[in-house]
Amino acid sequence: MAMEATRLVTLEQELRTAIAENQFEVYLQPIVNQKNGGLLSAEALLRWHHPTQGKLAPAHFMAFLENSDMINEVGQFVLETVCRYLARCRSNKSFPDTLRISINVCARELYQQDFPEQVRAMLERYHLTGSCIELEITESVALQRITEAIATMDQLIALGLTFALDDFGTGYSSLSYLKQLPVQTVKIDKTFIRDVTQDYQDAAMVAFILAIAKTLNLKTVAEGIELQDQATWLSQYEHISLQGYLVGRPLPIPEFHDRWANP
Ligand code: C2E
Ligand code: MG
Ligand code: MG
Repeated sequence: MAMEATRLVTLEQELRTAIAENQFEVYLQPIVNQKNGGLLSAEALLRWHHPTQGKLAPAHFMAFLENSDMINEVGQFVLETVCRYLARCRSNKSFPDTLRISINVCARELYQQDFPEQVRAMLERYHLTGSCIELEITESVALQRITEAIATMDQLIALGLTFALDDFGTGYSSLSYLKQLPVQTVKIDKTFIRDVTQDYQDAAMVAFILAIAKTLNLKTVAEGIELQDQATWLSQYEHISLQGYLVGRPLPIPEFHDRWANP
């Protein structure tokens, strides 16, 4: 216990330094149309360039960060980085104006009192409309305080933003709640995709999620596509977008731009 306490104190100090010294970086991962491989959107994913441990993925720090007010500052950094990049892309015509970037939002961020106002101010600062941003929340985030979540989501939707339900199928949500949430997209968690071609239970779950999504008129993204077989299996379904290493790994913004922007 003492060792764990020391680790957490060190992590907190290191995260404060990381914010002060700009050690975070936003990576982008493509999400494509399964029919023609065309870019539809990208997901912003945080990386931490730790001074001694090198590049760290969120698994190493996000659980701690999401329980601290520091997440609000980091979330603002992610939002601003994305808006700055989108504004540059708009002025250079690097992508069609329909390109959208999705940003993950945890409970602490969504339930901040002035979150919609912060987003509105950032969009204004970069002369953007809300339609270029999708926010990804998980079922557990949305269902913690569902009435409040819906009210906040509605304010953001009024600015033009859309919502995606991330890691769908891994939570314990009730389908009647799902119907109430103003989301436009569900993202099928990668744990169902991994063995979808061999495990009939995973295949049944994916088919079930796709059927619900269709009934509720929601778009779907399949996460964690690593193998051509998985993409081929999914091609039996219409209206599904693909995200995963097969399509493209998360990249630093300049590399993402070189790979995906119009020549
Ligand atoms: P997520 O939102 O579900 O993001 C998808 C995760 O799957 C990312 O992990 C991505 O790198 C990984 N991934 C993408 N394609 C593949 C694949 O083909 N195979 C496998 N095995 N993995 C793949 P990452 O970047 O480590 O992020 C983990 C989680 O951390 C995210 O899960 C999200 O919940 C959270 N996160 C990341 N960035 C942010 C952020 O800026 N703010 C907040 N609040 N949370 C974030
Ligand atoms: Mg996500
Ligand atoms: Mg996910």
